[in-house]
Amino acid sequence: MASNSFEEILSKKSIFQDVSVLSPHFVPEKLPFREEQIGSIMKTISPALKGQKPRNLFIYGTTGTGKTCCTKWVMEAFNKVNQQAHMLYLNCRVYNSRYRILQKVLKEFVPECSKSGFGLTFLYEKLLELIDKKQQMVVILDEIDMIKDLDDLIYTMTRANDEIRNKGGVSLVGISNRLSFKDALDPRSKSSLSEIEMIFPPYTSEQLQEILVQRLNGGFVDGVVTDSAINLAAAITSQTSGDARYALKLLLKAGEIAEQENKEKLTDEEVEHARRMVELDLASETIVTLPENHQMVLHAIAKLTLEGGKYERLEGLEQGFLFSGEVYEEYESVCKKLNKRPRSLRWYKEYLNDIELLGLISTKPSSTGIRGHTTLIKLGHPAENILKIVKKILVA
Ligand code: ADP
Ligand code: MG
Repeated sequence: MASNSFEEILSKKSIFQDVSVLSPHFVPEKLPFREEQIGSIMKTISPALKGQKPRNLFIYGTTGTGKTCCTKWVMEAFNKVNQQAHMLYLNCRVYNSRYRILQKVLKEFVPECSKSGFGLTFLYEKLLELIDKKQQMVVILDEIDMIKDLDDLIYTMTRANDEIRNKGGVSLVGISNRLSFKDALDPRSKSSLSEIEMIFPPYTSEQLQEILVQRLNGGFVDGVVTDSAINLAAAITSQTSGDARYALKLLLKAGEIAEQENKEKLTDEEVEHARRMVELDLASETIVTLPENHQMVLHAIAKLTLEGGKYERLEGLEQGFLFSGEVYEEYESVCKKLNKRPRSLRWYKEYLNDIELLGLISTKPSSTGIRGHTTLIKLGHPAENILKIVKKILVA
């Protein structure tokens, strides 16, 4: 129940101690199960502290395996050592081109470069001057696959290193969730980027348990989270991904649910409940970034699922499955309502394929006998929720 008195709100007992400890931006002092990786990163970049150029490092691992927090942890330690070398973190979702990256690096050190509008050549000259003075720079490029002209960037950095007369240099630490993006690179940049490679494996269920237990301390009031709830959250996460971010999200959401329901303990029940919500949250994040036609196909699937397909009662058809043909017709009518031109069947099949790869639907061929050979489609999440999400995006 909502309360309109601060005294009441503040005096209410909470199961949380400090919610920020459970946030994905919180970097704990210790990062268990990553001692080896942290040690290797430190070793790789340590020559910079002695005035020598380290080799470039490429770090690969799926989401939530600790790539970002480990490199940031190393950066903090590195930047405390001395003034001859400097490490800088850039998220390439924001700094997604050679120009933006050069500009950002220079902005940090050369006040005159904070104005915009300088040409690339000017920035390049400044970079040479800077490295000549600053000696060694290590630039972390997180989510490096978002850089549009990565070949050009690597070329520029290599050239800068060749042209510097003194001992200075720039090295790169590239981080990515996707290994395959390197296939699109020029062979020379590819080998330059991964002079040294490192893998962050997904966490196991036991490891996730310990990571979660570490956050209980400080995050929750002592003793409110049951062991069994932690084990369940870890088990659910390791089955799907081994993504520590997901596990933490699950625990936070379960805590919020317990709080809302005025429970004194966080148990399996809240974790199960949270699981469905977290999955929907993630689905929603995926749907928002889809192209419009994919969203309209999803709209059609959710709407038909909710209303029941035409052949719902057909013998031998499992509950919740739709025929590819009826979905296409519904897609056409969604397009019409939104004043868009529907794409051909060939494209429609591509869209189905894409949204299946993202786990939003599953498909299978119909058994023989049901309307010849066709594809059957089933939505992976509750239809009302998906319909709400796509409607909000498409109408806005
Ligand atoms: P990635 O960059 O690989 O996607 P992050 O470094 O962002 O993953 O980690 C995701 C979340 O999991 C962060 O909140 C981080 O604090 C937590 N985390 C990851 N690895 C560990 C670990 N070994 N110990 C404690 N927390 C961790
Ligand atoms: Mg990351």
